[in-house]
Amino acid sequence: MIEVTGLSKRYGNHLAVSDVSFKIEDGEVVGFLGPNGAGKSTIMNILTGYLSATAGKASIDGYDIMDEPAEAKRRIGYLPEIPPLYTDMSVKEYLNFVYDLKKVKLPKKPHISEICRLVKIDNVENRLIKTLSKGYRQRVGIAQALVGNPDVLILDEPTVGLDPKQIIEIRNLIAKLSRNHTIIVSSHILSEIQAVCGRIIVINKGNMVADGTPEELSARISADNSLEVSVLGPEKDVEKLLSGITGVESVQSLGKGTDGSVSFRVMPENGADVRRDMFERLSDRKWPIMELRSSALTLEQIFLRLTDETSGSEQLLSGKKEKEENK
Ligand code: ADP
Ligand code: MG
Repeated sequence: MIEVTGLSKRYGNHLAVSDVSFKIEDGEVVGFLGPNGAGKSTIMNILTGYLSATAGKASIDGYDIMDEPAEAKRRIGYLPEIPPLYTDMSVKEYLNFVYDLKKVKLPKKPHISEICRLVKIDNVENRLIKTLSKGYRQRVGIAQALVGNPDVLILDEPTVGLDPKQIIEIRNLIAKLSRNHTIIVSSHILSEIQAVCGRIIVINKGNMVADGTPEELSARISADNSLEVSVLGPEKDVEKLLSGITGVESVQSLGKGTDGSVSFRVMPENGADVRRDMFERLSDRKWPIMELRSSALTLEQIFLRLTDETSGSEQLLSGKKEKEENK
């Protein structure tokens, strides 16, 4: 288990990570999602013992990364943002070098061969790393992280700079590795995280602004149940009718569509389902509903809201706080 409590990191006057806490259970695949500069690499560097925290603690399987770095590090394979490849070495030489560096006890030859097979670099074992494509280099970077067979893999933007085909290959590899490893993978691109992670931690400006399954994030931010309805009828009258329905908190006109219908955002009171009444009342007046949908957001929209400084994170955080207070 990975446990992070009250982690902060200050670079001079700049607070890059601010009071971040989370727990990751064995076998989880967690995505760190956030725009560039959010603090993802800083958190990963602290977790892997490459950087010290200004405040707070991080431990792997109970071993504190500052107090017992050797025990903690032995359990982690790390692919930094810029993989530490020695490009004048062949793939095999490099992995042997990493093996020695990590003081691994497993039988050397079979262990390295197995890794090469797993990440599909066995066909380039004897090539100099500098002659490899970016996709292959990234796989060598992942192979390097796998040396010593650590339970936890921490991968910092593993698909950055790759072409779409290579991205899919790395994604598939991560999915494969997730069967036997706890994984933290960072990205500033939602679709990459969404594809492989069962849980997403959204980080913005050093703060954790959300933590949950993709579905939970989606549900939380669209929990207002607001509806968008397009009605063929006189704008003011329809608005008045909708506002008068029991359970409707507010109605906002969104303007006329190409088919002449007017769209409205209907905000129901807590949990109220007003669709049936809407249908019956509009039907009484012969104002047909041309379209009706709940304004559930796509994950892309959620991410934008979460990381939008004007409304997003505060809105979500306050939602979260309310939830906690209600408990
Ligand atoms: P991310 O990986 O999410 O893009 P980083 O963790 O790299 O974010 O950076 C978080 C913030 O800390 C950024 O504002 C960045 O400029 C700053 N930062 C990162 N490393 C250093 C450093 N060594 N010295 C000063 N500021 C840094
Ligand atoms: Mg980074």
